[in-house]
Amino acid sequence: MDGKRQHHSSFQQLEKLGEGTYATVFKGRNRQTGEFVALKEIHLDSEEGTPSTAIREISLMKELKHENIVALHDVIHTENKLMLVFEYMDGDLKKYMDNNGERGMLKPHIVKSFMWQLLQGIHFCHENRVLHRDLKPQNLLINNKLQLKLGDFGLARAFGIPVNTFSNEVVTLWYRAPDVLLGSRTYNTSIDIWSAGCIMAEMFSGRPLFPGTTNEDQTIRIFRIMGTPTERTWPGLSQFPEYKANWQMYATQPLRNILPQIDEKGIDLLQRMLQLRPELRISAAEALNHEWFAEFHQPAHAQQHHPQQPMMHPHRGYQQHTVPSQNVYGNYQG
Ligand code: ADP
Ligand code: MG
Repeated sequence: MDGKRQHHSSFQQLEKLGEGTYATVFKGRNRQTGEFVALKEIHLDSEEGTPSTAIREISLMKELKHENIVALHDVIHTENKLMLVFEYMDGDLKKYMDNNGERGMLKPHIVKSFMWQLLQGIHFCHENRVLHRDLKPQNLLINNKLQLKLGDFGLARAFGIPVNTFSNEVVTLWYRAPDVLLGSRTYNTSIDIWSAGCIMAEMFSGRPLFPGTTNEDQTIRIFRIMGTPTERTWPGLSQFPEYKANWQMYATQPLRNILPQIDEKGIDLLQRMLQLRPELRISAAEALNHEWFAEFHQPAHAQQHHPQQPMMHPHRGYQQHTVPSQNVYGNYQG
């Protein structure tokens, strides 16, 4: 059977939704069901084709099912093209901030809902030993129910941390953890938490927290706010490949001065996500249990009111809630 022709005719290709690091994404319609999908065409090196490891990684993503992760319905692999069929979302967080924010700033209850969902998605990945590695507003998809889902998944893992996009734009460094910038090769789940912290600050302020231009500039921008680390504050620091003995020494700035929009508990959580030392960074599970999310933490007896909600982690103090309260259902148009 000619798999290629068959699959191509299964979807009607509609307008382009986006172009990113590895791929072009189109809106599509399933001819059989009428359902919208997002069709992601991976640009492959015409000579090398798709590495089998990449195919394996991407296929693993199909198993990663969670309400805060964009569902991958299908992987279609033909001679030199790879097409991923995803659940359709109305837009990404970058566009949402541009279109719905007040100069990019989102309302505090929206930020909290998005952070809760982001951390739920991250937690699920980390529990399944998957790192995202490229969390940023463009890779967080939003639908008109204000559900937030992690997108652009597994590709970083399949293809490595990107440096350039296929169109040779430089990949943004703004959300990259300091240990990665310093050349660590042993990074872990904590790199996604750093990105989440940067995203939280940006949703509140409407501006990227650390908008660096080069590896060096990115590192210095982080130090200017979080303080320049030393071998005393970060044992082992001088062993990193990108360590410089002559870094300018900056004092730590209180985050509440830089982000006056954020309430005290929110600042406390952010502070814990933006620890320079990866081992000191809060985990996704701990972050979900932070008191900033108290309104989402329901007492155990309330669980019976949500019998349809799967309790994935009954040992932890939170439930699976995508959108916590009615008032965040806005009229987002995508
Ligand atoms: P890349 O790996 O090339 O960065 P992405 O998966 O991030 O590809 O997709 C690029 C852009 O396309 C996203 O930033 C988003 O705007 C849009 N997009 C991606 N997936 C979807 C989807 N499932 N629904 C709607 N839009 C999407
Ligand atoms: Mg992307």
